[in-house]
Amino acid sequence: MTFEALGLNTSILKALTDAGYTAPTPVQQQAVPAAIAGKDLLVSSQTGSGKTAAFMLPSLHRLASIEPAAAGKTPNQEMQAARARGERPRFKAAQPKMLVLTPTRELALQVTTNTDKYSVNLRRIKAVSILGGMPYPKQMQLLAKNPEILVATPGRLIDHMESGKIDFSQLEILVLDEADRMLDMGFIDDIEKIVAATPEGRQTMLFSATLDGVVGNMARRITKDPQIIQIMSAANKHENITQRVHFVDDLSHKNRLLDHLLRDETMAQAVVFTATKRDADTIADRLNIAGFSAAALHGDMHQGARNRTLDSLRRGQVKVLVATDVAARGIDVPTITHVFNYDLPKFPEDYVHRIGRTGRAGRNGLAISLVNHAEGMHVKRIERFTKQMIPVNVIEGFEPKKTSFPPRSSRPGGWKPGDNRGGNKPGQRSFSKPGGAPRRDGVTGSNEGYKGPGFKANNPYNSDRPRRSYGDR
Ligand code: ADP
Ligand code: MG
Repeated sequence: MTFEALGLNTSILKALTDAGYTAPTPVQQQAVPAAIAGKDLLVSSQTGSGKTAAFMLPSLHRLASIEPAAAGKTPNQEMQAARARGERPRFKAAQPKMLVLTPTRELALQVTTNTDKYSVNLRRIKAVSILGGMPYPKQMQLLAKNPEILVATPGRLIDHMESGKIDFSQLEILVLDEADRMLDMGFIDDIEKIVAATPEGRQTMLFSATLDGVVGNMARRITKDPQIIQIMSAANKHENITQRVHFVDDLSHKNRLLDHLLRDETMAQAVVFTATKRDADTIADRLNIAGFSAAALHGDMHQGARNRTLDSLRRGQVKVLVATDVAARGIDVPTITHVFNYDLPKFPEDYVHRIGRTGRAGRNGLAISLVNHAEGMHVKRIERFTKQMIPVNVIEGFEPKKTSFPPRSSRPGGWKPGDNRGGNKPGQRSFSKPGGAPRRDGVTGSNEGYKGPGFKANNPYNSDRPRRSYGDR
């Protein structure tokens, strides 16, 4: 399958060749022709599967086919004309043709960057990001150019809509990227408000890790006769990402182990995820003192600082990024070899997004969770969500005192009995079988290439783990 076969125009095809894209990914193969035909889409496919191009390429194709004459004067040109007539120019609202809503600023910037790449040969089409944290005058300047495409986070967009700076009456295409995440972040009212301000006849495309539950309800409400595309690919299962759990006894053990793992010869760049902004700062400082070029990334930093940090990461100057979840979705740096969960994420979905920061663009990656014994149930929830077991590993010299998950009495408070409704599905391994269960290693593919010094593939602890009993069903 080629991009030509999807029906994209030659300007876009040339840009794709220049970007080094040789063939469409599975989600692009399905989404592009349907979207060119004007269909509404509900799409779920895994992180890194190329969803941005899946909605942006057909949209650019459609926008490029709109007659330039119909575009009229930009607000900037109208203001200049008014000045020339000696009138006081009035700000005219921007009238975008396409709106992409994303949960975070990083993601919005990344979508805009990709759009610029795909549309280099389409001079007329401009995309801009409207984001919280960006100076207001700068945003007004961007809006005054009347860009065809707005990429925005919901909150800031609402501000501009309410002050009359944006008029969606000409909108043709609405995209909700990572819709599940936007709902998790509490944007539902904002999204409803924005959708209500757009024309009924628009094309709507919604992308989400899941199309169940609340997202599914919203998806069906805002689309018409949508084509549903669900891609279950190898990438979906993160087969190119080796996952491991390492048990730690306490913080000092965790820190020593992290330092050790970061010195692995296969480590080029890493993202270390922490639960809090403060920890991100502290650990980045500590790693810097230990001789790593580390930097923190989290929601309390100014946009400028966040951008600079991401640029340094892309340029390879920052080797270890210490980040919170909010900062983690948009990061797309193919040279990231390792992801560490210094703290486990609150939601299993976030685990999937976190580990998706490595293994980008078809490469292999390693995702390591540093877990204390009280967090066993947490790991289990992640395994249940991903339907994959995460092998436990032990490094010589860093052995934990305990190597199994806790008994029933000490399960963490976050877990509720309803969490494992339904128990095991056919084909899914039982986690609580007493002994005799299959070994846990090798489940997610081979560890080849990641056997750093001291890594014991056949350590005795691996086979311990299936014996643990959670006692929760
Ligand atoms: P998703 O939104 O599904 O997580 P992205 O759209 O961010 O994925 O794409 C992931 C990476 O793959 C990006 O670096 C992107 O440039 C690259 N990519 C997307 N489509 C292709 C393709 N057809 N060929 C090569 N690389 C691609
Ligand atoms: Mg995406």
